Amino acid sequence: MTPADSDRPLEVACPQCRKKVRWSEDNPYRPFCSKRCRLLDLGAWADESHRIAGEPSMDEADIDAWLAQADRDGGS
Ligand SMILES: [Zn+2]
Repeated sequence: MTPADSDRPLEVACPQCRKKVRWSEDNPYRPFCSKRCRLLDLGAWADESHRIAGEPSMDEADIDAWLAQADRDGGS
């Protein structure tokens, strides 16, 4: 057991730029080194999830257009 080890803050590599970053409560961007890296990573993420999340809303728009057309047809 080395007391110095438990006293030392854990270091992780920033997933974005691989820079060593201290894992501590003081770092709101952990495991990223900075806000910039976190945003970059979240941006890449949002891009991926946007495509998946975008599908249902596209369906809704489709249904909307479909209902509008059906309404027009039934109105005459
Ligand atoms: Zn970074």
